[in-house]
Amino acid sequence: MLLLKSPRVEVHRSPCPVIDYTDFSHPLLEEYDIIVNATPLYTSVQEELGAAREVFVRMSARLSWSRVAAAVVREAQDLFTSRVYAYEGQKETKGVGVYMVRKSRHFGVATLLDTLKETSIDADIRQLSDYVLFKGVGVWGLPAAFKWVYAYVDPPSLATLPKNRCVVVPRNTALGYGAVPYVAWHKKEPENIVAAAGIEVEKPPEDGFTPQKAAGIDAETHVGIVESYALGMSMAATALKYGVSSATVKSHVWRHNDAVARETRCGICAAEGSALAGEAVNVRR
Ligand SMILES: [Zn+2]
Repeated sequence: MLLLKSPRVEVHRSPCPVIDYTDFSHPLLEEYDIIVNATPLYTSVQEELGAAREVFVRMSARLSWSRVAAAVVREAQDLFTSRVYAYEGQKETKGVGVYMVRKSRHFGVATLLDTLKETSIDADIRQLSDYVLFKGVGVWGLPAAFKWVYAYVDPPSLATLPKNRCVVVPRNTALGYGAVPYVAWHKKEPENIVAAAGIEVEKPPEDGFTPQKAAGIDAETHVGIVESYALGMSMAATALKYGVSSATVKSHVWRHNDAVARETRCGICAAEGSALAGEAVNVRR
């Protein structure tokens, strides 16, 4: 097993090898049985998503293989459509997603997308699925395109399927019923999986950035904050000017720099036509 991490995060102890995601290359798929890219080893969900996208792109360089790999994408709606991060490269993310799902068989990868709500994954990607598995769908029921399944499976029993059961709908509209055996190493709900696995992580000092803090600020304000601060206004003065907290100013400057570092430009600033779209802002201490 191999863990992927942010270059900004230090791992002091781990039962298995850990590498920066920037060192990932597809021959590792032959070498390891399981490769994990997960939130605890990143500074933010946004950074984790950027890494996941990069790993996908690098897998696509695989031209031959001795065994097929399965890419399991948990909470796939975050990677394949992102409402939260709609500003930054949403088109690009969707482009990569469609490409990956369509082409993955050509580089020996089966892509498995896991999502709470089928319709939160982009329609272009959904339509590429060879198999759709439904687990207990609860009172919300099946999405419109799959209502026909109710002609064969009783709605209450589909709503209350046991956790390890599923209904399988292949592309050819056949219908299957499956059971997944419980595995002893499955994460238990209240369990801290990082601690349980004996992994010790050190994150860089708190920079005040969280997607929640960044939310609720419109694109124009983001540009204003970044430009004012870049022109030498203090964080406190910038905060006062825009009626936000200093932490918000800090988080937007950080978010901007992160986008420039990762994607060569900040999508929000680029969309607003800011001259600083491709430039990291010097953070003064
Ligand atoms: Zn920006």
